[in-house]
Amino acid sequence: MIFGNKSQLKTKTAIALAVAASLGLTACNSDDNDKKDHKDQIKLRVMETSDLHTNIMDYNYYKDAQDQTIGLARVASIIKTARADVKNSVLVDNGDLLQGSPMGDHIATEFKKNNRMPYTGIHPAYKAMNTLGYDVGNIGNHEFNFGLEFLDQSLAGADFPYINSNVVCDVDCGKDGILKGENRFTPFIIKDKVVFDTNGDEHTIKVGYIGFVPPQIMQWDKKNLENRVQAQSITESAEKYVKQMKAEGADVIIAIPHSGIGEPDDENTMMEDAVYKLTQIEGINAVMFGHSHQVFPSDTYANVPNTDIEKGTINGTAAVMPGRWGDNLGIVDLVLEQDGETWKVVNSQSTTLPIFDTKEKQSLVDADKDIHDAVELEHVGTRDYVSTPIGKATSDMYSFLSMAQDDPTVQIVASAQKWFAENDEGFKDKVGDLPILSAAAPFKAGGRYSDSDFDQYVQVKAGDLAIKDAADLYLYPNTMVALKVTGAEVKEWLECSANQFNTIDPDSSKTQPLINREGHRTYNFDTIDGVEYKIDVTVPSKYDNDCKAITGATKNRIVDLTYDDDGVEVTGEQFAQKEFIVITNNYRGYGGKFAGTGESHVQYTFAGKENRQAVAEYISEMSDFEPKTGESGSAVDTKADYNWSFKNIETSVELKVTFETQDSEKAHKFVEANKRRTMRKLEIENTVPGFAIYSIDMTQELED
Ligand code: MN
Ligand code: MG
Repeated sequence: MIFGNKSQLKTKTAIALAVAASLGLTACNSDDNDKKDHKDQIKLRVMETSDLHTNIMDYNYYKDAQDQTIGLARVASIIKTARADVKNSVLVDNGDLLQGSPMGDHIATEFKKNNRMPYTGIHPAYKAMNTLGYDVGNIGNHEFNFGLEFLDQSLAGADFPYINSNVVCDVDCGKDGILKGENRFTPFIIKDKVVFDTNGDEHTIKVGYIGFVPPQIMQWDKKNLENRVQAQSITESAEKYVKQMKAEGADVIIAIPHSGIGEPDDENTMMEDAVYKLTQIEGINAVMFGHSHQVFPSDTYANVPNTDIEKGTINGTAAVMPGRWGDNLGIVDLVLEQDGETWKVVNSQSTTLPIFDTKEKQSLVDADKDIHDAVELEHVGTRDYVSTPIGKATSDMYSFLSMAQDDPTVQIVASAQKWFAENDEGFKDKVGDLPILSAAAPFKAGGRYSDSDFDQYVQVKAGDLAIKDAADLYLYPNTMVALKVTGAEVKEWLECSANQFNTIDPDSSKTQPLINREGHRTYNFDTIDGVEYKIDVTVPSKYDNDCKAITGATKNRIVDLTYDDDGVEVTGEQFAQKEFIVITNNYRGYGGKFAGTGESHVQYTFAGKENRQAVAEYISEMSDFEPKTGESGSAVDTKADYNWSFKNIETSVELKVTFETQDSEKAHKFVEANKRRTMRKLEIENTVPGFAIYSIDMTQELED
């Protein structure tokens, strides 16, 4: 282990890397090994990037500033060192590569203009990745967001192969010579790999790679995929192809599922998160996974059955997940021993290497110049694109309080969707006079509350707004969908949303965290505008983390739900019977997870209009924005309408309810200026760096 001058790695990552490699080395060597029994060993390092989401540069385009916490440019430096430190290594990418940053949006927007890749004809993700010598790439769910033609033209720029085993052709999958039911992509590949054993002798081993995507892409990207492809079960595809890979002589099989761990006892073969099941499939030696945007091994997963978070195994199979946006490199160090004609994995060690120390707020690695050079054109183009003016805002739109009260960043999305629908002729023809409600959720509310998420808040300042601000307010390229629902369904929809909050015991004076972060992603915390309601957090949730009704949970968290019909209050049974239109996005609309959603409810799809585009146009309209001059005659009102709030808790004890938000002066000022209840920043250290803990008075709201 020599780091020397070639390495720019700073201490923490360097030590982690040294530890990782030495564990791999010592795992199966005993110093007193008997020469007769000594078998040749090969140490193979498998490296993984995942969920880069087009964060190629270490750059935050929303703030137009360098960002040391993200980017392939930074993780590339770790890849180079981690590779140089061992004799044998391979590098894979797990997918969710082409969508997610303003650079990804910019490229897709330019592509749409004449159906070809802009700039040099190669997607910048591949200009960068081609400099790093990837062995194989897997297709993530977000790869389908911009359509199959965009995906095909993007993949054509990769100088390494792509795999996926569970997407097949339907009627017209846009690829010559592939019939209905046949794989749309190469299901797996087996590559000959020249390696050196621990004695320095050369061997050629066969390394097999197999890829997977969640079958839910068929709902999430219905408009791009319907009648074109079908998605099959991850586990069934694995069972089928892993046997075939073994029969074709693979010595090692590396699964690359764009999928999270999932539930050990899940019996649904079409599950989204299938890693737990994959680790139980005979023949798979390493699972390089992703999709959940978190880090494995880590304490987060300490309670998963049959999981060793020291070694990084699940059911004895090596596994790793490297966070997201290039914040970590995932490594599985495999130890192979010769076993007759083949090689067998006898030990493993998984590690993740971060690019940034969130506790010390210190960068651990410098950016790789080759990556910067490779995408310079597109980087400049993206900065240009996102600075295009769109209007003006009356005050700051920050999402620091979006988990604790109605909020300007969620409000503006709901308002924009409703405004857009009301001004769409086709929509009016289709839905008539039904009342229009609008659903929106905080997409950036501290991310998934992991180590590098403290800056994942919407931060749009008052004053002139540009495309980057619309992108900050609406993170995903989702498209508008209108659903027809009953009032009863609206209520159950909100009941599942309310699973975002823990159950608060009104008789306990212990500290009680309000937000259910582990179990409920903030993008599933839909609030619905156009109705008024309160959330009673003393009542247990009616729905579990998958929006499945909990048996026996019959009491309601959603109370005082009313609709104002021109001055007449509609509530109770009358509300339950009433029909509404809810404007939402394609994920929610086709998802079928929440009450009132799913294909049968879909009334209108606005010709694929992006919700974010509606937000941008709403801002321009409300600002009296003049595109020719870039001047705004007015400004969009950014105030939330506070149509929802928590129900005040009656108690005789001193409640200690807490929530967390960004630990910064900016966030604190915003809380002080906008809080609807008494909130106090507590002087306790949080286990997750970058977040502060606040108390919130649940017994009463402040006077206006
Ligand atoms: Mn992802
Ligand atoms: Mg509202």
